[in-house]
Amino acid sequence: MKKLVVNEDACISCGACVSIDEEHFAFNDNMVSHAISQDNLDSEAVNTAIESCPTGAISIKEDSECEGCCENCKHEEGEVDEGI
Ligand code: SF4
Repeated sequence: MKKLVVNEDACISCGACVSIDEEHFAFNDNMVSHAISQDNLDSEAVNTAIESCPTGAISIKEDSECEGCCENCKHEEGEVDEGI
């Protein structure tokens, strides 16, 4: 299964993805973008947002490729890995 991932360490909070695709991206309390939906990942908007990110922080990965770099993985694991 594919997963929309924002590498929080790479996000510079420019706001591009959030303004382009409100369905998939929002700022968290730290003003870092994170994925808010895993539906409709083939949409033009999500792909435009990925292409527009100046730091390449956004990607769509297979579950097996995930490295725990975003809130989605941390929430699924139930706790934050301090090594990340
Ligand atoms: S476009 Fe990239 S750098 Fe800008 S807010 Fe979104 S994830 Fe962060």
